[in-house]
Amino acid sequence: MAILHIITAPDRRLKVKSKPVEAVDDAIRRVLDDMLETMYQAPGIGLSGVQVGVPKCLITVDVSRDDEEDAPLFLVNPEIVAYSEELETYNEGCLSLPDQFADLERPGEITVQYLDYHGAPQQLRADGLLSRCIQHEMDHLKGRLFVDHLSAVKRGMILRKLEKIRRQKVSA
Ligand SMILES: [Zn+2]
Repeated sequence: MAILHIITAPDRRLKVKSKPVEAVDDAIRRVLDDMLETMYQAPGIGLSGVQVGVPKCLITVDVSRDDEEDAPLFLVNPEIVAYSEELETYNEGCLSLPDQFADLERPGEITVQYLDYHGAPQQLRADGLLSRCIQHEMDHLKGRLFVDHLSAVKRGMILRKLEKIRRQKVSA
């Protein structure tokens, strides 16, 4: 397994729409393994392929708490087939937007269909943090970041801050 580089915004590669995976083979499983390791190391609770430069419909998630056993989830070609009408607000962050957070409203409960690590079709009903995390990662597959849900002013503020941090890192 390997730790992959996580692309941070603003970056055009994060706006790419991911392509569905044709077959969950060993090459895809290797990417999923690397993504999971990268996500744990970051540390984060969700990661999409596009964030590590692989614009394929791949997501890793683990919302278990530190005092619980790891509960990794691999979602290939995920599709949300049902949303609750009820919305919930969460303070969201993103490994591609380091140290930036914003309150965001999204449906509280979802039903998602996907292929698992072995290519078998699965259906999962999720609420709470898991639902939130899957919706956030699925946005990445469409080339969307959580800041794209915010007003242009707020989004611009966050992206300019990140650009400035990056410039300081380069010149340091
Ligand atoms: Zn993210």
